[in-house]
Amino acid sequence: MEEGERREGVIAEVAPLIPTSRTYTFTVPEGIEQSLTVGQRVRVPLGRRGRLVEGFVVCLDRKVWDSTLRPIDSVIDAASFLTLDLLELGREIAVHYACPLGRTLKAITPEAVRRERGLKTVRYARLIQTPDEIRDSGKRIGKKRQAVIDVLANAVETFPVERLFEQTKASSVVLRAMVREGWVEIVARKQIVDAKLPGQPLVEPGFALNEEQRNALERINAEIDSNRFSVTLLFGVSGSGKTEVYIRAIRRVVSAGRQAILLVPEIVLTTQLVGRLASRFSDVAVSHSGLTDAQRSLLWHQVAAGDKKVIIGTRSAVFAPCPALGLICVDEEQETSYKNLQAPRFNVRDVAIMRGKQHGIPVVLGSATPSVETWYNSEHRSHYRRIVIHRRVKDLPMPDVYIVDMRDEFIEQKRVVVLSRLMERLLAETLHRGEQALLLMNRRGFANRIYCPACRTRIICPNCNVNLVVHTAGGQSICHYCRSRIETPTVCPNVTCGEKLIQTGLGTQRVEDVLTKLFPRVRIERVDSDTMRHREQYQRIVDDFEARKIDVLVGTQMIAKGLDFPFVSFVGVIHADTCALASDFRAQERLFQLVTQVAGRAGRADTSGKVVVQTTTPALPVLKHALGHDYESFATEELRSRQRVGLPPFRRLARIVLAHPREETVRREAEALYGRVREAIDSLSLAHTDVLGPTPCVLSRLRGKYRYDLLLRTLNASALRGLLCNLEESGTLRTKTESIIVDVDPVTLT
Ligand code: ADP
Ligand code: ZN
Repeated sequence: MEEGERREGVIAEVAPLIPTSRTYTFTVPEGIEQSLTVGQRVRVPLGRRGRLVEGFVVCLDRKVWDSTLRPIDSVIDAASFLTLDLLELGREIAVHYACPLGRTLKAITPEAVRRERGLKTVRYARLIQTPDEIRDSGKRIGKKRQAVIDVLANAVETFPVERLFEQTKASSVVLRAMVREGWVEIVARKQIVDAKLPGQPLVEPGFALNEEQRNALERINAEIDSNRFSVTLLFGVSGSGKTEVYIRAIRRVVSAGRQAILLVPEIVLTTQLVGRLASRFSDVAVSHSGLTDAQRSLLWHQVAAGDKKVIIGTRSAVFAPCPALGLICVDEEQETSYKNLQAPRFNVRDVAIMRGKQHGIPVVLGSATPSVETWYNSEHRSHYRRIVIHRRVKDLPMPDVYIVDMRDEFIEQKRVVVLSRLMERLLAETLHRGEQALLLMNRRGFANRIYCPACRTRIICPNCNVNLVVHTAGGQSICHYCRSRIETPTVCPNVTCGEKLIQTGLGTQRVEDVLTKLFPRVRIERVDSDTMRHREQYQRIVDDFEARKIDVLVGTQMIAKGLDFPFVSFVGVIHADTCALASDFRAQERLFQLVTQVAGRAGRADTSGKVVVQTTTPALPVLKHALGHDYESFATEELRSRQRVGLPPFRRLARIVLAHPREETVRREAEALYGRVREAIDSLSLAHTDVLGPTPCVLSRLRGKYRYDLLLRTLNASALRGLLCNLEESGTLRTKTESIIVDVDPVTLT
């Protein structure tokens, strides 16, 4: 074909999976023109050398094109598993989170489904001549051949080959011969292997909703019936019966023949919730990281076929390929684990809202401690509603919270202690009454600081500029960021010093250690990501604690979330401090959430609860609000200070992190980038938009790379999208550093 010759034909727009922000167009060869659909993966040639790369077809169009276009090389998927609405959602995520479309679509579709795991090829046979025609052919028909003809003549359409062999005792040689004669045809079809997912008997609790719950349910039902997009914040302390409200709202959706998605922050922490849902609906799909590939594939196809009505899961469940979605609920909407840690760095809660808008359906966000962004939105944005449940189910009183100033404790006891006297006394009383306790220590390990008292040398990770954490098991010290481990040193590595090293700083192991010495006969278990490597381990501890085979659980925030234990009457927070997070604009919010959540575990049944919070900063306003269970005052004050300094929700942020092995390079590149971004902002004359930095990150060195960041700040999301799009298209974000990350709506700034 001559250069520039024009023709008409089908053109495909393809988003490659390699990191490139744009899509490319190709012609569609005649052989596949009829069958190719949007969402299928294809191989296409890119670049001068025509390297073949994988990509998603994102648009098909009949157009006039010129001969410079190259054709698609080949088709990868037999059929598209990306529905049009998911493709649309992918586009929106790609734009909002400044992530290439191909990469975004890859994140949306599970690997297991793309690789067709759990699918096997099943062969079917069918007659293509009638038995009469075959007989009239005059060919010899033996007994085996006749048996095959008899079975196939009676089959509806096709008959599985495996079963044909079993029933007729014919061999594959016989069947092949019949194919050669032109009597029989074999067709191969990909089928799901039935990976059995555990089912559960259904039980319905006997109670009726209380008035506040009924009210909440009625309002959510009205949203469901209106067939409109809306976001409802369901705000109620833990134990106020929110989950019961989701369950019944989901039931309304399901009984109308539609599907519902319930998102939970972390499946391992929500086994009770999942169990509850599974016992209330017969067609629940639970998607979690413990599924095998075959199970994951199966689930996807069952959801896509509409066979599963309720989908519960963590991040990926928001992309469930539901053909008839009617509701999305997000439990504990404020959880930072909803943020994806790789590109696209989406927040599942926000993706749920995008999806709800796309489908025109309600989204319910539940929380006892909503993010202040959501709280603000529920007050100021027209498509938001807010429903408050004030009281706990059965009118349980809120626990009494006491604050202990650990500085006084140090002065009076003349030493650093792990448990204050009040904590020790109330804990002893609780155990004496045969009740249970939870102790929260938000750091793993034994000690997190090893230093030399003589020369002040600190032992830090060789790759990261952070303290190593001593883990007593095995005597090793571990970097919590890069996971590198060393034998814990005992003497100062400084050759001119050689003094004995000191270990300080608390961790869960240390707390466990102290407790075991104080209460030798008490049954204590520790729950953190060191001890809870598997779902089963966690489940066993939860079961044992429920069965009261354990008296005290010590753990990180894992114990603060989602559990409902009726015999816990005492909760202790060992170390409530924002120091470690002081650089983070969400530090106050996190502390409030943590203290409130863990306090909510105390006294859920007939025992009223007590909570002791130990801190060295008792004057912090957040602690005062947490003490009074006063979310609204906390939110009002926090929003006021966010407004004053220009942080979300009053501004939108995107953080750009550069990392490189050489500090000089990363600093220079960050400064140059800052200059270019500044210029772009000026030339676009964007109001209320600025760029802050560049500064070394709080984690200034990580996995052997130095890190610097810049912060983009705009008035709203669309301004941020516009700016990022401009920076991307103009090549402004190209740097000479080994990596550059753009994190839109960051949840942390470390
Ligand atoms: P939340 O999700 O707000 O923490 P849940 O829905 O889990 O609250 O309810 C807490 C506990 O109270 C659960 O064990 C639940 O079965 C029970 N419960 C919920 N609603 C009622 C009700 N109306 N009457 C009695 N018990 C209830
Ligand atoms: Zn490290």
